[in-house]
Amino acid sequence: MTATCSPTIEERLEALLRDHPPAATDPVEFLRARFDAGLAWVHYPPDCGGSDAEPEMQRTVARRLREAGAPDPFPTNPIGIGMVGPTIAHHGTEAQRRHLRRLWTGEDLWCQLFSEPGAGSDLAGLATRAVRDRDEWVVDGQKVWTSMADRARYGLLLARTDVDAPKNKGITAFLVDLRTPGIEVRPLRQMTGDAEFNEVFFDGARLPADAVLGPEGQGWHVAFTTLMNERASIGDAFASSGGGPIDGAIAAYREHHAGDAVRRDRVVRTWIEAELVRFVSARAGQPGPAGSIVKLLGAEHAQRVFELTVDLLGPEGQLVPTSTEGSPWTRGPQVAFLRSRATTIEGGTSEVMRNILAERVLGLPREDLGPKDRPWKDIPRAVTDRPAGS
Ligand SMILES: Cc1cc2nc3c(=O)[nH]c(=O)nc-3n(C[C@H](O)[C@H](O)[C@H](O)COP(=O)(O)OP(=O)(O)OC[C@H]3O[C@@H](n4cnc5c(N)ncnc54)[C@H](O)[C@@H]3O)c2cc1C
Repeated sequence: MTATCSPTIEERLEALLRDHPPAATDPVEFLRARFDAGLAWVHYPPDCGGSDAEPEMQRTVARRLREAGAPDPFPTNPIGIGMVGPTIAHHGTEAQRRHLRRLWTGEDLWCQLFSEPGAGSDLAGLATRAVRDRDEWVVDGQKVWTSMADRARYGLLLARTDVDAPKNKGITAFLVDLRTPGIEVRPLRQMTGDAEFNEVFFDGARLPADAVLGPEGQGWHVAFTTLMNERASIGDAFASSGGGPIDGAIAAYREHHAGDAVRRDRVVRTWIEAELVRFVSARAGQPGPAGSIVKLLGAEHAQRVFELTVDLLGPEGQLVPTSTEGSPWTRGPQVAFLRSRATTIEGGTSEVMRNILAERVLGLPREDLGPKDRPWKDIPRAVTDRPAGS
């Protein structure tokens, strides 16, 4: 088929909605058809569920499908869709890209195995080891704050494969089947009552050679793709709820404080901020350092808007439902307020976002992190790593 007779995105959308009316189609069936039509991540190649289209088309397609009542794959598999999928599309082999269709439909949930007790903001200092044993890799170490690991089938893992290299050069990325013997997942309960994240222990877990994603020793480069997409994805989540949480605050003002000029001033300031988040997110292009603006602004806005809402609601704003069924964002203002305390930590803290903007966008002098070529094994560590097998 020549380029001229290739169906446009518009025609593909029309055909998808005609052949699979959202109201009458099973959601997984619909998402499979969307992937096969090249309308999953439209800017990726066809074997990644795309159409090699301009990245800007992604928002248009998502909006059109939302308006048509089509299922949104993001809430079921947020880490898979927002971060791991784009990383596999960029760095994966043909065989690894075959994961993308089931990831997209939510048939396989994915998690991100990056943070460790001694490596959060300083992710490049991570200590989980992967040692080659003939045609396998043996992994030992501990991850923490791994969202969804208790439900995920697969994870994107960063592990140290060369202790003699500088800290960001001796890391390799792996695609891990979490059912592999030697992997244990322990949920962590948080103040909302949910257990959204987990500790994950690796104790001699053996991974096949083809689990390596990207070149050996280039895991930091692979992680960059994930982190840039994570920030854009988190920022977008707050932006798309721009008309949501602020509406709750406005309704609370109308019901409890109509005519109060001081509170009205706070509501209007917060509404202006909600609009700003929406505009900045809409303007943000491809994931990159500038995406940190959306993440920073969106995360801090989320905290302010829920704080305002519970203040305006008074005692009613303190109520917490007994059930932890469903997302903490939809179980009332108090639970959303509690959950929002984490927004300035997850996906990189606000302080780290400010560092990135200062150094990589404004070009201000870099933080002094010591000699760049020092081998990882010679860098003093604050956390004593859990010995393998303990
Ligand atoms: C809800 C939630 C979900 C998460 N999900 C995942 C997940 O799925 N997978 C995963 O791998 N991780 C996940 N994380 C972990 C998250 O990425 C880390 O918590 C985050 O990167 C911060 O690391 P840390 O907690 O170790 O804090 P630290 O890095 O120890 O930071 C402590 C404090 O020091 C400040 N600080 C540190 N370094 C600097 C610096 N250079 N300049 C200025 N200030 C600095 C920080 O801003 C912070 O205030 C999640 C976290 C949360 C809250």
